[in-house]
Amino acid sequence: MSKANAYRRLLDHGREAALLGATSALLAWDQETGMPKGAGPRRAEQLALLARLHHERCTDPRIGEWLQAADERDLNDEQRAVVRELRRDYERATRLPAALVEELAAAESRAQQAWAAARAASDFAAFAPHLRGMVALQQQKADCLRRPGQTRWDALADLYEPGMCAADLQELFAPLRERLVALRRRLAAGSRPDDAFRRRTVTLAHQQAFVREVVAAMGFDFDHGRIDQSAHPFCTSIGGDVRLTTRFADDNVLDALGSTMHEGGHGLYEQGLPREHFGNPLGEAVSLGIHESQSRLWENHVGRSRAFWQWCWPVAQRHLGDACAGEHADRVFALANLVEPSLIRVEADEATYDLHVMVRFELERALIDEGCTVAELPARWNALYRDYLGVEVPDDRRGVLQDVHWSCGLFGYFPTYTLGNLYAAQFAAAADRALGGTAELLARGEFGPLRDWLREHVHAHGRRYSAQELCRRATGATLSSDAFVDYLEAKLLEVYGLA
Ligand code: ZN
Repeated sequence: MSKANAYRRLLDHGREAALLGATSALLAWDQETGMPKGAGPRRAEQLALLARLHHERCTDPRIGEWLQAADERDLNDEQRAVVRELRRDYERATRLPAALVEELAAAESRAQQAWAAARAASDFAAFAPHLRGMVALQQQKADCLRRPGQTRWDALADLYEPGMCAADLQELFAPLRERLVALRRRLAAGSRPDDAFRRRTVTLAHQQAFVREVVAAMGFDFDHGRIDQSAHPFCTSIGGDVRLTTRFADDNVLDALGSTMHEGGHGLYEQGLPREHFGNPLGEAVSLGIHESQSRLWENHVGRSRAFWQWCWPVAQRHLGDACAGEHADRVFALANLVEPSLIRVEADEATYDLHVMVRFELERALIDEGCTVAELPARWNALYRDYLGVEVPDDRRGVLQDVHWSCGLFGYFPTYTLGNLYAAQFAAAADRALGGTAELLARGEFGPLRDWLREHVHAHGRRYSAQELCRRATGATLSSDAFVDYLEAKLLEVYGLA
């Protein structure tokens, strides 16, 4: 087989795997948005069949042969990046024995059900045996995956943020934690934004029209995507077709706006990946941290900025009518930046969110690498919440049992949320410098220049560079927490009258 031929076959084979993946994504989207209840059992069979076919395709031994035959000396830079990433995917897919993959899937399914019941009853003891089993399986999985120099936790985290390890994260997180805890304490002495607007009720149809106009202004392409409703907002890509969902409550229009801009940011990334590279790594997102940076940039750096509210307030008034009476743009901007140390990660504000992530980061490493027992977990969780957030955890439902991740086998995943915040701030600062200030553009509702900057410097590259390299190229610096905390301090101290 010629070398060019081997490369061609790798691409064709990968494209079919991507088509199977996209088909699964469409079925899963339907399951979350509009599927009649009675279709559940058959849908589970359909998804399991597609998952098996996809896995067979990704572990096909011919991929190994083609990878060997595609001599990198004959390839250009772009093709070399494709082969590098396909090799990584193939090694990862073939390192886990099929028996372990099946055992994990079965244990996850049992653990999720046990977790849901245990959380509802706030009964950690009922979940503990499942978590113990899950930790042991994750350790086995890590032993299959780990490369020289990696800890077990590193090997798991590498699945979500390739190239990132616990030691690097500790270096990023230590100064971040110190400054965030100090900021939380300072804000407690400031003047708290008024939150009356939060309690105004708005009908669903009006909220829908409002958030749709905002996402359209961001540049989301409705010829290649749509927005629907689901219990938990998400974004999924079906290959040139990006589906967003959002959630609505009568009395929380800011939550609907924030979650829609968040998913819209994910959607712009997916729509900005080069379409001609569908089915190969150049058309895929580079890491979860970078994906999350795109959602947080739009949700927070845009959606929680004073400039954005200058543009958005008249739009809100047009759609929300009476609910806006007696309010004005600056008050709603301040409310969007309310800081309240809380117990629940998914409800946390911008200034305390990452402290929630750091609690999980500490505890995961303790469980996976440092011999911490499951029985010790609730006490250690509660102590860290006292330390970092200054709150007392009243029960395990609002403590250690709140997140689904560990029951789904997602260890090493949480830090990608914080990496997203740090990358977002560094990208936002770089775009601001390149565009000569984004505030005036946002105040006029001109989102195109920012979107195009992200497209050119982040989206267009797919997996060509590692996340860390992409950050260096786009921002001129390696990732640090400085841009993020500088941005937060500047904004929040002013909102709280402490600047
Ligand atoms: Zn997200």
